[in-house]
Amino acid sequence: MSESGQKKRDPKTLRPATQLVHGGTLRSQFGETSEAIFLTQGFAYPSMETAEARMKGDEPGYVYSRYSNPTVAMFEERMALLEGAEAARATASGMAAVSASLFGLVRAGDHVVAARALFGACLYVVEELLPRFGVASTLVDGADLAQWRAAIRPETKVLFIESPTNPCLDVYDIAAIAAIAHENGAKLIVDNVFATPVLQKPLALGADLVVYSATKHIDGHGRCLGGIILGGREVIETDIHPLLRQTGPILSPFNAWVFLKSLESLPLRVRQQMENAGRVADFLAGSRHVACVRYPGRADHPQAELVKKQMAGGGTLVAFEIEGGKPAAYAFANRLSIITISNNLGDAKSLITHPATTTHQRLTPEARAALGVSDGLLRLSVGLEDADDLIDDLDAALDELDRQGLAAE
Ligand SMILES: *Cc1c(COP(=O)(O)O)cnc(C)c1O
Repeated sequence: MSESGQKKRDPKTLRPATQLVHGGTLRSQFGETSEAIFLTQGFAYPSMETAEARMKGDEPGYVYSRYSNPTVAMFEERMALLEGAEAARATASGMAAVSASLFGLVRAGDHVVAARALFGACLYVVEELLPRFGVASTLVDGADLAQWRAAIRPETKVLFIESPTNPCLDVYDIAAIAAIAHENGAKLIVDNVFATPVLQKPLALGADLVVYSATKHIDGHGRCLGGIILGGREVIETDIHPLLRQTGPILSPFNAWVFLKSLESLPLRVRQQMENAGRVADFLAGSRHVACVRYPGRADHPQAELVKKQMAGGGTLVAFEIEGGKPAAYAFANRLSIITISNNLGDAKSLITHPATTTHQRLTPEARAALGVSDGLLRLSVGLEDADDLIDDLDAALDELDRQGLAAE
C-alpha cells in the first residue's frame, strides 16, 4: 500500500497494457511514481539475528544483488505477467539467458536437439560448448517434425528453437515440437526474440522455458544489454536460479530499470514497428530488383497458416533478396540514408544487415546455402520512423542499382 493508502489490485487480474505500466512496481517509503533504481550491491540488516535469518532463507528480504535486487525483481515480475509465467530470472545478456537455460537443464551424458537455424552465438553454445561438458547435440531442420522425432535419444533432455528464425524468418510449430519433447521426457526451450513477447506466447503453446535477449525489442532503443528466462516456478527455482546465483551472469539494476521503463511502451512500439514492417514488405515484394521477400505477416510466407495459429502478427523483421548477389546488396545498403547498417535488431531505428558477410560469415558456403542465406539476402529490422520515409529510402537505393547496372547481372 502506498503513502496515500490506495489499495492495489492483484496485477494478474489486469489487462496486458496495464500490467506493463503497473505490474511488479515496488514503491519505497518515499512514494516515488516512477520506479526507483536500487543501484546497490548489498543490503543492511537491522540486527545480526536478521542477517542470520536472511542468509538461511528463514526470513524474506534482500541479501546481495547477485542473488536478487528490488529493481531487477520489478523487471522480472513485470515480464512474468506479460509472458504468463510463474517465475522469471533476468540475466546480463540474451546469451547469458540462452546458455544458463541450456546448462541449467542438462548434465554430462545428456543430449540436446536444436533447430539448425539459430542465432550464431546460440549455435556455438549448442555445437561447441555443450559437447565440451559431455552433452551431445544434434541439429535438425526445425520445420520437419519427422527429423525432430528421429533425432530424439533416450538421454535427450532439451529441444531448443527460435521462431521466427534468424535471418530467413522461417516459422516452426511450437505446439507440435513441445508435444514431441514431452512425449520423450524432454523440455522445450524457445528463444522468442524475433516474435517478441507481445506477438507470441511460447509457454501457452507448451514450451517449458522462454528466453529473451532484452537487448532487442524489450529495450527497444539500442541502449542496454540484458536477457531473461521465464517458465514454471519449479524449473526456474531448482534448475535456473541456483546456476545464475552461483555463477553470476546477472542483470545490472541500472539495465533492469531501463528495461522496466521500456516495457511500459512495448506493445505500442511493437505494433507500430510491425505495421511499418508490413508496409515495407509489401513495397519490396512489388519492387524491381527484389528477387523475393520473406515476411511472416504476408500471405505468401511459406508457413502463413502456422503464423496465424501461433503469432498475433508478422513481427518487425523483413528478409529480402536483391538480384545481383553481394555487389548489388552492398551497393543497395550503402545507398540507404535513414536505414542504418548494423547487425542489431529490435531498435526504434531501422537497421539493415547482410547476414552472409556478418552474422553468418563463419558458416561454410554450403551451411549458408542450407539455411537460405544467399549472397543477395538482406535482413531489415524495421523501426519507428514514418513508413513512407523508409519506403522512399528503399526506393532510392533501388534506383542506385539501376544507375550502377548491378541488378541486371
Ligand atoms: C540478439 C540475440 C541473442 C543474443 O542476445 P544478446 O543480448 O546479444 O546476448 C540470442 N538470440 C537471438 C534470437 C537474438 O536475436
